[in-house]
Amino acid sequence: TDAAEAQVVVATLARVRELLTELEPELGRLDAVAGDGDHGRGMLRGAGAAADAAAAAADAGHGAVACLRDAGRAWADRAGGTSGVLWGAGIGAVAHALAARPVADPAARAAAAARAGVAAVVTLGGAKQGDKTMVDAAEPFAAALEQAAGAGQAPAAAWDAALEAARTAAQATADLRPRLGRARPLAERSVGTPDPGAVSFAAIVAAVRSTVVP
Ligand code: ADP
Ligand code: MG
Ligand code: MG
Repeated sequence: TDAAEAQVVVATLARVRELLTELEPELGRLDAVAGDGDHGRGMLRGAGAAADAAAAAADAGHGAVACLRDAGRAWADRAGGTSGVLWGAGIGAVAHALAARPVADPAARAAAAARAGVAAVVTLGGAKQGDKTMVDAAEPFAAALEQAAGAGQAPAAAWDAALEAARTAAQATADLRPRLGRARPLAERSVGTPDPGAVSFAAIVAAVRSTVVP
């Protein structure tokens, strides 16, 4: 039911907030290598606001799509920083995609939602793969979900493949020089350290899998 799906959104965002509470220092450390060191703080602020907004929408009787839409707005409004605006837009696009596809096979539905989220981030932020941003993890994640769904895999297997793709791609950003964002002026210094936004993306989708796939 829609009320049950709304509760999945609420539980997912609560789990993401919990995860970012744990990861905050590490994400800050990664961002401080060549950026301004606020990635952990900003992500936790955004996820906290999103979790609160989703819970409030669910309490008011709204469904999953409205909960996600409110969550995306709250994340963008409260996180501060580039990543907050991009996560807000991505979550808003996921909400929109889920609203458009109420009854598809779950792996295909997840793939379509992921693709819409990534497309929104790319449209807004203008990053290409290899620019050393969250897109370097998000694009392979969406592509792996699409491929697994297209091959008829069950949701658990599709998510596992996509999480592995995101994690591997996030770690591989260590070899790159940032071409966008606040880390660009100190690009050389960031070589050897993965992009904080790619690392947080991979960790967040792993948390999402734990509540979305039984
Ligand atoms: P800020 O850089 O404004 O302090 P954060 O520290 O929260 O914001 O986020 C930094 C992360 O945002 C980077 O590690 C990168 O992954 C991501 N990022 C920055 N600019 C872009 C962009 N144009 N497109 C996609 N992701 C971006
Ligand atoms: Mg920063
Ligand atoms: Mg900042």
